Amino acid sequence: MKFLSTRGKTPATCIDAALVAGLAPDGGLYVPETFPPVNFSTPSTSLADTALRTLSPYFVDSSIRDRLEAICATAFSFDAPLRPLNGSGDHLLELFHGPTAAFKDYAARFLAGSLEALRDPDAPPTTILVATSGDTGAAVAAAFHRRTGFNVVILYPDGKVSPRQAHGLGCWGDNVRAFRVEGSFDDCQSLAKRALSDEALRAQVRLGSANSISLGRLLPQAAYYAHAASHFHAAHGEALNVIVPTGNLGNACAAFVARRMGAPVGEIRLACNANDTLPHYFSGADYAAQSTRATLANAMDVGAPSNFERLRHWHASDAELRAGFVAQSIDDATIRDTIRNSPARHGVVPCPHTATGLKLLEDLRAAGDTRPWAVVATAHPSKFETIVEPLVGHEVTPPPALAASLAAPAESFALGNDYDALRQVLAG
Ligand SMILES: *Cc1c(COP(=O)(O)O)cnc(C)c1O
Repeated sequence: MKFLSTRGKTPATCIDAALVAGLAPDGGLYVPETFPPVNFSTPSTSLADTALRTLSPYFVDSSIRDRLEAICATAFSFDAPLRPLNGSGDHLLELFHGPTAAFKDYAARFLAGSLEALRDPDAPPTTILVATSGDTGAAVAAAFHRRTGFNVVILYPDGKVSPRQAHGLGCWGDNVRAFRVEGSFDDCQSLAKRALSDEALRAQVRLGSANSISLGRLLPQAAYYAHAASHFHAAHGEALNVIVPTGNLGNACAAFVARRMGAPVGEIRLACNANDTLPHYFSGADYAAQSTRATLANAMDVGAPSNFERLRHWHASDAELRAGFVAQSIDDATIRDTIRNSPARHGVVPCPHTATGLKLLEDLRAAGDTRPWAVVATAHPSKFETIVEPLVGHEVTPPPALAASLAAPAESFALGNDYDALRQVLAG
C-alpha cells in the first residue's frame, strides 16, 4: 500500500515514512492510494480488534506490521459505546472514555505507539513539539508520557484555556513540559512552525510533530466508526448515520474513510460552531478560509479546516463533494439552549461541542427524518464545567481517568512570545 500527497508533487511513499514525516514534503497531506475493502459484516467483540481489522491493510508492508496488534490493543483499550438517547433511533457515540476525556486520545495513542515502534533504539530522543488551544496538547501529552525516546514540549496561550484544560496540560511531568506562552494560540502555532522548519536547530535536536493532519491520527479514527456501525448494522439491518462536531475535519474524514472501506456508515453530517467556512462551502459558495472566531465549543474554533484538502482530493469535483455532505453552523446562544435542554430532551448532559451535533439531530427530527442517527460525543462535559454546570444546574462529575489527572499536581513554565527563548528550551 502506497501513500500519496494531496498536492501530487511528492513521490508515493510507504506507511512508515508517511507516519514519521507528518506533512508531505510538498506541503500536502498524505492519503492512501486506495481504500482497501474490509468485510465488516461480522462485528468484532472488541474495539481493539475492529481497529486491527481496519488498519491492517494499510500496514501490509510496514516494518511494524507484527506490532500492530499490540499497538491497537494499547491505543484502543477503552470502549467507544453507542448509547441510546431518548427518542427512537437516536444515539450518542461516546468517544470520551480515554485518559483526557476527548476523542483525540485514540489517535494520539495510536500515533505515539506507532512512532515508538518505528524508532531506531540507538537514536537520540525525539522532542514532540505541539501548539494547542486545549484538547490536542493534553491527548498528545498523555499518549507520549513516559514513552522511551520521546520528550514532549507543549505551547499553550496563557490565560486562554480553561483552568481544567491548563491542569490537563501541566499534570504529566517526567518527559512532558508545558509552557504557557504570553500570546494567542496563533502565536504558539507560529513558534512551533518556526522551530519545525529551523534547519540549524534540527541539526542539533530531533523534532517531531503530532498535529491533526498526520496520517497516524486520521486512519485510527476510522476504527470507532467501523466498530459502532458494524454492531448497529448487525442488530438493526440498517446503516448508521452520523453527525460529527467538526473543526479541522479530521474526525469527519475518518467517518468517510470507514465508509469507503465498506463499513455500514450512512450519511455524514457536519456540525460546526460559528466558524462557518464549511457550511458556506457546502451550501454552494467557493471555499474561502476565514479568520478564527472564539466560541463556547473552542476545540472547533477553526477558520481554515486543514483536512478539507483531503476531502476535496477524494472527490472528482466540488459538485460531487457538495452532494455528499451537509454542514450546519450553530451559534453560541443555541449551544447554550441545547445544553440546557438536553437532560430532559435526550437524557444526557453534553459538552459544548457535542451540543452542536445534538442540535442538528433535533433539526432532522423536526423536519421528519426517521433514519437512525448517532451524534458523536467528542468530549466529556466535565472538561467544560464552567460552561455546562450553570446551564444544567448541577455538578458534572469527571470520569475516573480525568479525575485522576485533575488530582495530580500540575506545573507549567512561563515563556515569552519569543522564538529565541523557545529555541533555548529545545536545544538545552
Ligand atoms: C478536536 C475536537 C473537535 C473537532 O474535531 P476535528 O477532527 O478537528 O474536526 C470537536 N470536539 C472536540 C471536543 C475536540 O477536541
